[in-house]
Formats: sequence, structure tokens, C-alpha cells
Amino acid sequence: MADPLFQFIDLPRRMPTPLPTPVRVNGWQEIYGGFDPDAAAAQAGRCLDCGNPYCEWKCPVHNYIPNWLALARAGRLFEAATLAHETNPLPEICGRICPQDRLCEGACTLNDDFGAVTIGAIEKYIVDEAFRQGWRPDLSQVKATGKRVAVIGAGPAGLSCADRLARHGIQAHVFDRHPQIGGLLSFGIPTFKLEKEAIATRRGVLEAMGVHFHLGVDIGRDLLFAELLRDHDAVFVGTGAYTPVDGRLPGQHGAGVHLALDILTANAHRLLAGDSTPDPRLDMAGKRVVVLGGGDTAMDCVRTSIRLGAAQVTCAYRRDEANMPGSRREVANAREEGVQFAFNRQPLAIEHDEHGALLGVRVAQTRLGPADSQGRRNAEILADSEQLLPADTVILAFGFRPSPAPWLAEHGVALETDGRIRAQGNALPYQTSHPKIFAGGDNVRGADLVVTAVHDGREAGLAMVRYLTVPDNQSTGNGA
Ligand code: FAD
Ligand code: SF4
Repeated sequence: MADPLFQFIDLPRRMPTPLPTPVRVNGWQEIYGGFDPDAAAAQAGRCLDCGNPYCEWKCPVHNYIPNWLALARAGRLFEAATLAHETNPLPEICGRICPQDRLCEGACTLNDDFGAVTIGAIEKYIVDEAFRQGWRPDLSQVKATGKRVAVIGAGPAGLSCADRLARHGIQAHVFDRHPQIGGLLSFGIPTFKLEKEAIATRRGVLEAMGVHFHLGVDIGRDLLFAELLRDHDAVFVGTGAYTPVDGRLPGQHGAGVHLALDILTANAHRLLAGDSTPDPRLDMAGKRVVVLGGGDTAMDCVRTSIRLGAAQVTCAYRRDEANMPGSRREVANAREEGVQFAFNRQPLAIEHDEHGALLGVRVAQTRLGPADSQGRRNAEILADSEQLLPADTVILAFGFRPSPAPWLAEHGVALETDGRIRAQGNALPYQTSHPKIFAGGDNVRGADLVVTAVHDGREAGLAMVRYLTVPDNQSTGNGA
């Protein structure tokens, strides 16, 4: 056994063993296994318990990381799970898919010289194992307030909001157009990053806390927003950001070209329903696939294409590897699974032959110019550097913009010029210009991360508790 004081030196950082690559690429299972209790305790024991824990500051929800690491090390699993939920209503989800290399683990004091503490994998272990042993959030002391809130969107923002409302005795009714909860957790992020059993378990936990789900209900189509507003004491809007960024490439509407989320969602529905009906968009067997983009969505598309049997998968990105927005871990996983990367390639057009059949993507080579006002270096095209990347399927993964529903403006909810819901500057955090309507997640920030949506849902939920239970807040105009 390593000396506890120097465990960080004696015991190297270790992630749970991933599935061997040949197994991974032939299935849809989550690629990382879990720690066993000894491995979790040993890895948690590497933490230095820093007086000023940078990991905690860098975490968007400010998880009490060193504290639950110490509890995991001591084998006090249920206390660790309780503490993890204090700041994060979905810790087992964040443990799996947060880009820890850019957040807590990237900021860990041990990161540079000894290897960061495996914070994400331990977070996943704590909650999965606590659930397996029967731990559940304790709401036995919660007193019902008699208030009802409608939550539109069962993504991470909506689920976090519902969790906080339930913990304060407010009935949460969550509406979603999809047949399962999770939003992009279920219908965007593939199962090899996040197994859907984790979402099913979380659904059971929330239902046991008293959260009601109304699935397959599209607000504005199946149920009018006005009715929802009338029948509830307040409404939280967590509807995400779904308008694809338009690359404006000639040929992008031609044969063989698909939007990233169409592919990922179609595949998610197919796997969820166990449906084997052929979908021509998912027919990639033996094909050459080119994915355009460099974020998490692009990584999910390349790895999905590999699993759908593509013969050759290339990710073309206009900057270099160091400037890719996606998680480093996911890039490494994609590479291991056989994905090729064409960095410094600016797509110019998608080319088809005279019969309309796809030929490939015309790209030009780039170099990185000076940084812009956001600190990002622009890609400059090099003269006479064009080439064709041959493809049978092209997937566009350029990111997402907000997609505000028309019923928001109809009810006086102010929007930013780019379509994001304005949820700052009002009496309470995450309150919109309509006092009874709160909002958070991607529809307020623009496309971002699960953990930031979790943060917004948590804070909006707590603000709604104040709105509904503190009399002074009612003077901000409850009802309309
Ligand atoms: P969403 O998750 O989009 O949920 C919104 C929900 O609202 C949806 O279920 C939708 O059906 C519902 N809805 C919308 N309008 C209506 C309506 N009118 N009626 C009923 N329901 C409605 N982030 C990470 O941190 N790590 C990752 O690895 C990662 N990978 C990603 C991969 C992909 C392919 C994509 C697209 C995103 C990824 N993200 C990742 C980003 C992350 O998924 C989002 O930031 C997060 O899900 C946003 O949460 P949200 O609750 O705001 O919205
Ligand atoms: Fe532990 Fe790293 Fe956080 Fe320090 S920064 S408290 S070593 S996890």
C-alpha cells in the first residue's frame, strides 16, 4: 500500500480500463468501465486536499471535489453521493461526459507533473455504486408547498431545475417532445460515451422524488404554451439550441450530405426502439465518410460512422489540433478507433457529378493567423492549396444556434439579437422579462456544455423557489 502522503507520486493516475478497440468499434457500449471500490479509494487517495482547490473553482457547478474524494477514499459512499448531489443534480452524467481535461482535471494541481486526479471517473463510481447499493436522495423532511411548476425540456437544464424544485416541495411537471428524458443526453450524445441505462436510472430517481414526466408532448403543437402558463405557478424553459450553424457551402443540399444531429438522433432513436428498419442516412457500410467540424458533435459523428461500418472516416477541421474545441480525450478515442484527421483544411464546396452523385469535399489548406478579440486564431487560406477529399457521405457538424419558439415572444419574453432568451438583469437570476417564466441552459447561453446547463437549471430552480415561496418576490409580478 502506498504511503498516503505520497500516494500521488507512488500511484500513477489511472482511468478505468476502456474496452479493447476491436470490441468498442463493433458495438455501442460505453467504452469506459467503472472503478472497483479499491481502485476508486486508491485513486481518490492521490488528492492533496489543496487548501485552495483549483479543481473546485474551475468546475462550473463548484463541486466539493476534495471533500467527496476524501469520503470515497474512506469508503463512505452514501455520504459522498449525498455531497455530490448538493452541487450537481446529475453527477453520474457529468462524471461520464464532462470535458474534465478542460475543467476540474485540467486545473488539478497534480495535472502538470504527476497526472491529475481522475475526478470524473471517481464521481461516476460514487454515484453509480451508491445507486446500485440502494442510496436515493432523502426527501423525507421536505414539506409540500402546494405549488406547481411546468418545466419545458427534459435535457440537463430541465432535469436539474426539476430536482431542485422537488427538494423544496414544489411539484415539477416536465414536458418533452421526445419519448425519453435527457434531451441531447439521449438523442445527441451516443451511447459509447453515455449509456442510456444511466439516464433510465436517473429517471427512476427523479420520479421517486415526485417529478412528473409528460413525454411525447411538443409544447406549442400538442399543448399550447398559454395553457401551460395558466395552469402552473411558474414555467421553466430549457429547450436547448437546435438551429444548425450554416456553413453556406455550395452543394451542401445535394445527395449524400447530412446534418450531424439528424444522423445522431436517427441512430439514437433506432437503438432506443431496437428498430432494425433500414435508414438510408445510416447506411455507411463500406463507405468513405468525411465529417466537417472539430467539436464534440464532430467527434460523436466520426465515432458513430466507424460503428456503422464506414470503411474510411476523416474529420476535416480548419484549424490545427491544439485549437480544436472538442475534448482531447474524445479526439484520442476517435484516433484509436481508426478516424483520420485532416487538420488545417477549410471546406470550400461539396462536389457532385453531373448525375448528382456525391464526389467529395473541396478543401483548401490553411495556416493560423493572429488571434481575434476572443483569443481564437483565424484560419487563413493558403494559395493554390485546393484538393478534393473523396467521400460517399458528408456530415456537417458546424455547431448550433438558439432556436427560440414563437410562443416566447408572443408572451412577452425578451430575446437577445441572436435568438438566445434574455435571462439576466431581471429581479431574480434566470428570470426572463416575463416574471413567471424562467429559462436556462443552451437556449440562454447558446450551445455549450452539459455541466453549464446543469448549473443554470439548478440556479433557476432555486430562484423559482424564492419566487414562489418568499412573499416579497411575488411583487415582481406573479401571473400574467
Ligand atoms: P437539451 O439537452 O437540448 O434539451 C432540451 C430539450 O428540450 C430536448 O429534449 C427537446 O426535445 C426539448 N424541447 C425543445 N423544445 C420543446 C418543445 N417545444 N416542447 C417540448 N420539448 C421541447 N456537452 C458536454 O458537456 N459533453 C459532451 O460530451 C457533449 N457532447 C455533445 C454531443 C453532441 C452531438 C451535441 C449536440 C452536444 C453535446 N454536448 C456535450 C452539449 C450538451 O449536450 C448541451 O450543452 C446540453 O445538452 C444542453 O442542455 P439543455 O438542457 O439546455 O438542452
Ligand atoms: Fe485534489 Fe487536484 Fe483538487 Fe488539489 S486540485 S484538491 S489535488 S483534485
